[in-house]
Amino acid sequence: MRILVINAGSSSLKYQLFDMTKHTVMAKGLCERIGLDGHIKHVAEGHDVYESHAPMHNHAEAVRAVIGLLTQPDTGVIASMEAIGAVGHRVVHGGEAFNASVLISDEVIKAIEDCVPLAPLHNPPNLVGIRACQEVLPHAPQAAVFDTAFHQSMPKAAFLYALPYEYYERLKIRRYGFHGTSHRYVAKRAAEVLGRSPEELKIITCHMGNGSSLAAIKHGVSVDTSMGFTPLEGVPMGTRSGSIDPAIIQFLMVKENQAITQVTETLNKKSGVLGISGVSSDFRDLLAAATEGNDRAQAALDIFTYNVRKTIGGYAAAMGGCDALVFTAGIGENHVVVRRMVSEGLECLGMTLDQEKNKSLSGQEGIISVDGSVNKIMIVPTNEELVIAMDTQALVGV
Ligand code: AMP
Repeated sequence: MRILVINAGSSSLKYQLFDMTKHTVMAKGLCERIGLDGHIKHVAEGHDVYESHAPMHNHAEAVRAVIGLLTQPDTGVIASMEAIGAVGHRVVHGGEAFNASVLISDEVIKAIEDCVPLAPLHNPPNLVGIRACQEVLPHAPQAAVFDTAFHQSMPKAAFLYALPYEYYERLKIRRYGFHGTSHRYVAKRAAEVLGRSPEELKIITCHMGNGSSLAAIKHGVSVDTSMGFTPLEGVPMGTRSGSIDPAIIQFLMVKENQAITQVTETLNKKSGVLGISGVSSDFRDLLAAATEGNDRAQAALDIFTYNVRKTIGGYAAAMGGCDALVFTAGIGENHVVVRRMVSEGLECLGMTLDQEKNKSLSGQEGIISVDGSVNKIMIVPTNEELVIAMDTQALVGV
């Protein structure tokens, strides 16, 4: 079976076509500037990379252009669009309505619409992508896979804020968590690599990329995670502040005469390691600058890794232990120095990093703690698109 995975943004649409017999990507690409002049980059097995500028007025036109590329002889990998057995959509916010992936129906669309106030930048384009695929590929069942669903198992103690309770009841203000597809996948893979059942393990997953979040996964279910009502909460990130004292917002508005939109923009786009270092949001640039003696770049690395380590300690306490610590995403999979800095001092949790394996296994799946380590430190590359494809296949039932 072939499954098309779609991640639709406001003016973009990312896609991957999977061959589910081998779990391989047959073709993938990105449509950008939808509604403007339009740009497509398409990479397909057996063909040269294809790029073109062509106006795409809306997402349905983008999906048609993708289907065209997937089926044409010089760029394609399938004979006709009927070869696409199902479509899986990444949907950012499922609120409290979804604790797992679902096949899309009118009721599901309505429930995703109801979550728009919780993710006003993400859910509307996700819905546009769903409708575009329904229009262009009417034969193919469609599934929604939510970033929030995996964390719906969090207990109230972990998901409620200490705010007036009516804000939760009336406005649904609570912690939801994100990156759920990634946390779920890498925790399951980690258990497989360890040859153990997820039900007998306490795992802390560190998804460290441009956006970063950690999850405490006890006996296969998420019991806490560091992102909250929005992806702004938690550890510092590339450009996001992570958790700060909320009183800073009013202080900035008064002292700097800034509008709330300006402060929010600063917290989302000009903070994190970029804000601290003034150098970059990219952790490779930070390390290069720190190595050359840039104190603020060093401080950014210190602050990031300190906060990740502190969260790991909190989650180990919350779960009553931690059998495995799993690093994933761009930084978690590839950044030797960040993994080393995060792991310093974790001997108190029965886990000792093997400095050589940390280097030699970088970018690969494997155990990077020393052989005698009671609890394990691991790298597991994430693959959110494959999880979306696998969930979709399971829901379609073939
Ligand atoms: P992501 O959002 O998962 O794509 O992760 C982006 C982050 O991963 C950036 O901060 C990069 O510096 C970091 N990253 C990606 N590749 C590498 C690499 N080979 N070595 C070190 N860091 C990397």
